[in-house]
Amino acid sequence: MHEPATYRVGDFDIAIVSDGHTQLDGGAVFGLVPRVMWEPIVGRENIDDQYRISLALNCMAVRRGDDVILIETGMGDKHGPQVREKIFPGDYGYLPQSLASAGIEFGAVTAVVNTHLHADHCGWNTVRRGDSVVPTFPNARYFIQAGEYEAATHPNERTKGTYFEENFRPLETAGQLELVDGEREILPGVHFIPAPGHTADHSIVVLQSRGETAICLGDLAHNAVQIERAPWIPAFDILPLVSLESKKRMAERAIRDNALLVCVHETVPGVGHLQETNGRRTFVRE
Ligand SMILES: [Zn+2]
Repeated sequence: MHEPATYRVGDFDIAIVSDGHTQLDGGAVFGLVPRVMWEPIVGRENIDDQYRISLALNCMAVRRGDDVILIETGMGDKHGPQVREKIFPGDYGYLPQSLASAGIEFGAVTAVVNTHLHADHCGWNTVRRGDSVVPTFPNARYFIQAGEYEAATHPNERTKGTYFEENFRPLETAGQLELVDGEREILPGVHFIPAPGHTADHSIVVLQSRGETAICLGDLAHNAVQIERAPWIPAFDILPLVSLESKKRMAERAIRDNALLVCVHETVPGVGHLQETNGRRTFVRE
């Protein structure tokens, strides 16, 4: 396991921890954008024989004083072979080791934040213990948007494939669930901000300290090029035109604040800044 990449933003110490990666259909990741346009960007050598591309499962471990905040929890280790082979193939389940290499024990985590409840963002929220599933982080409060929790616990025919109750119901049972309604500063300097489109209540996490800003993008972009090009929107998004507006809003802010951006699915660590020169936006990796 590699040492996690680390960054300092004001009073926050940020480590990018990783659960590994999953392989998803490239056409689904790029939506309406034809393969002739995205293939040269991804690189032919990075597309497997099933036309799948690798998506990292980056998470942010943020420390400030006694606060240890984990933003996103990857895919986890609870999937059976059916899901592992057909829906979410890949090589994952490494978040515990990655946290350990960042010097973080489960019991030290004080808060967990999920941008939304798709299976690749909240898998390590919970772990199997014998016949039951319990919160992985016994001392954490878990912050989730109320609308997202409602959507995840009442999925429809299209959305049910990626909402797994075992990733979030046990938080409610254990009394560790903190539902949030819209924009809120959930901890000092930690802002949970709606950025809808991927799901109706998908939200980003904005850290602000001493005039510096970091943003966890959630699924506003799966690949760095989707940060640069607002209309490049995945087929996964429930409300693509709403995603477009959310992404444009985030990009304006990222440029204005020179924010450190964390792209959850971009090759680890997936961290960079968005710069604009002569109207052209570029994601500059750290
Ligand atoms: Zn995702």
